[in-house]
Amino acid sequence: MLTTDPFDPISDDGDKLREECGVFGIWGADTASAVVALGLHALQHRGQEAAGITSFDGKWFHSHRAVGHVAGNFDEDHIIRQLPGEAACGHVRYSTTGESGLRNVQPLYAELASGGFAVAHNGNISNAWTLRQDLVKHGSIFQSTSDTETIIHLVATSGFKRLLDCFIDALKQLEGAYSLVCLTPEGMIGCRDPLGIRPLVMGRLGPKDGGAIIFASESVAFDVVGAEFIREVEPGELIVVNDSGIKTHRPFAPTAPRPCIFEHVYFSRPDSIVDGQSVYSVRKQIGVELARENGVEADLVIPVPDSGTPAAIGYAQESGIPFELGIIRSHYVGRTFIQPGDKVRHLGVKLKHNANRPLIEGKRVVLIDDSIVRGTTSTKIVDMMREAGAAEVHMRIASPPTTNSCFYGVDTPEREKLLAAQHDVEGMRDYIRADSLAFISIDGLYRALGEPGRNNAHPQSCDACFTGEYPTPLTDHDGLADVTQLPLLAERVT
Ligand code: SF4
Repeated sequence: MLTTDPFDPISDDGDKLREECGVFGIWGADTASAVVALGLHALQHRGQEAAGITSFDGKWFHSHRAVGHVAGNFDEDHIIRQLPGEAACGHVRYSTTGESGLRNVQPLYAELASGGFAVAHNGNISNAWTLRQDLVKHGSIFQSTSDTETIIHLVATSGFKRLLDCFIDALKQLEGAYSLVCLTPEGMIGCRDPLGIRPLVMGRLGPKDGGAIIFASESVAFDVVGAEFIREVEPGELIVVNDSGIKTHRPFAPTAPRPCIFEHVYFSRPDSIVDGQSVYSVRKQIGVELARENGVEADLVIPVPDSGTPAAIGYAQESGIPFELGIIRSHYVGRTFIQPGDKVRHLGVKLKHNANRPLIEGKRVVLIDDSIVRGTTSTKIVDMMREAGAAEVHMRIASPPTTNSCFYGVDTPEREKLLAAQHDVEGMRDYIRADSLAFISIDGLYRALGEPGRNNAHPQSCDACFTGEYPTPLTDHDGLADVTQLPLLAERVT
C-alpha cells in the first residue's frame, strides 16, 4: 500500500514511485456524489494529496475540491448534499505536473460554448508545455499549472461544432498518457490514450437495464461501491454514457497497447483486476519467478510491508523457505504521534515498523520488496534486520532495477537520484549494506504476466522506467518543469 506520510521513515522519504491520480465517475445514480466519494476512498492509494468531486444535476454543475484525504473532506452529509445530481466525477491526486495548490485540484471545470465541462485526469500530457505556449499565444488564459487544463483549452478552442468532435480534436493533439473521465451536459465520457498507458475500467451499479454506469481507475472501486465489473476501457477507446445508453468511439488508428507494467508491480491494489489479470496473482507469480532466478540459502522469507507481501508468498512457496512476518507494521501510528526533526524521525522507524526480534535472531533472512528507488528505505530495513540479530540479510526485488524516470504521470525522482541509475547491482548491494541483492529480470517480470518474455521488437507493456524505451515522444518533458516555475499568483491553501 502506498503512503505519503512524510514522517513515515520506512515507506516514504520519496523512496517509492507514487501513482499520481485516481479517477471515478458515475452516470445515472440517485446519490451520484456519495458513490463517487466511496469510490475515491477505494482509490485513495493512488493519490493522497487532494480530492475533488464535481456533480451535474441536469442543469447546474456543483464542485467541491479540497487538499487532503477523501475521508475528512467528503464524509459529511452536508458536503455530499452540496453535490446533487445523478451524475458526478471525482479525482484523487498527487501533483506530478503543476504545483500542489487548490487551483490544480481536480476535477477541473470550465464553461465552454457547449456548456459545463469537468475533467478528471490520470496520467501526464508530455507535450503540455508546447501546447500551452501555443494556446496562450492565441489568447487562452490558464487558471492552473496543471497539464490537464491544456485539454480544456484545446476543447474550448477547437473549431468543430459538436462537443464530441471538439474533444476528439483535442485528444489528437496530445502526447503522453491519459485516462480521462469527463462530465458534460451531454453525458459522461471515459477514454484512454491510444497506448492505454494508464488504466480505466467500466462497471455497472444496479440492474443490467437502467443501472448506473461507472468509470474508475481500478476495479477495486467497483467492489467497494457494490458495482459489477463490465470491462476495461480499451486503449484509444472513447465511451460516451448518457440517458440514451452507451456509445463507443475509436478515433485513433489501431496500435499495439503499452499499458504500464508498474501497475502490476506496485501501484494497483492487489485486489484489483488490471489488464484482465488479478494483481495479487501476478505479484505472487513475480515472487515465484524471482525465486527461480535468484534463489539463496536462507531460513526465512520476510515481506517488506505491505507491498512486498504477495511476491514474498510466491517466493516462499517456490523456494520452500518459510514465509514469516519479520517486520510488524503498526496500523495505529499516524502523523499525530511523530513529530518532524531528525532525531524523532529516526526513532519513528520502530514506531511504525518494527523487527520481530525473537523470529529473526540468528536467522538468515530474505527480504522481499517491490522496488528500490533511492535506496534509503532498503538501507533502513537491512539495518533493522541486523540490529534484530539476523545472521545474514539478503534482499530480493520484485521488479528490475528502476533506472529511468517516468513521464507518464508517476511521481519519480530525477534520474540522478535513482540508485539503479548510479550503481550496478553490486554497488547497490554495497549501498544498502545487504549480504546479497538481486532483482527479477525484465523477462521474468513478463513471464509473471503470462508472456514468454519481453518482446524486444514490440514490447507488450510500457516498461520505460526499467528499460529507458519510452513508448511515446517526450516532446517537452524538460519544459514541463518550467510550468511550475512560472511567476504565478501565490495561492493560499487552507
Ligand atoms: Fe509505468 Fe514505468 Fe512506464 Fe511510467 S515509465 S508508465 S511507471 S512502466
